[in-house]
Amino acid sequence: MPDTVFSKIIAGQIPCHRVYEDAHVLAFLDIGPLSRGHTLVVPKEPAERLENLSDDAAAALGRALPRLTRAVCAAVGAEACNILINNGPSAGQEVMHVHVHLIPRFPGRAEGAGLEKRWAHLPTPPDAAELARDIAGRI
Ligand code: AMP
Repeated sequence: MPDTVFSKIIAGQIPCHRVYEDAHVLAFLDIGPLSRGHTLVVPKEPAERLENLSDDAAAALGRALPRLTRAVCAAVGAEACNILINNGPSAGQEVMHVHVHLIPRFPGRAEGAGLEKRWAHLPTPPDAAELARDIAGRI
């Protein structure tokens, strides 16, 4: 996997505003925050996308997220947050090292504009049962 800005931050070659670190995870403030407190949670394991992450690294990431969510939201007084992964370029991923965005949200404030929920739901597909079985068979 090629070096990314996040692997350089993990290696200490680029500075960051660190909020949390353990053996497997580093969390720091996003350099271009969508809202106050926007934090990136990055597994140290070099993986481009979530599906490339080992079970151990994924478990460590998942273990850190609730604590980080509580701390970030408490620090900025947010009552809600979006927690999301842009997983792959066509999903908007720009830095090709898996990372979780923790983006505090504030009712009535412009911060986080663009994250409003405007999903265009499709109808349940007629082959939903077959699709579910197909997915289940690949796990
Ligand atoms: P994504 O589009 O999901 O790959 O998000 C990449 C995020 O990384 C963006 O929100 C950037 O603002 C953020 N970012 C890029 N470089 C840095 C950096 N040096 N320190 C902190 N955040 C960064």
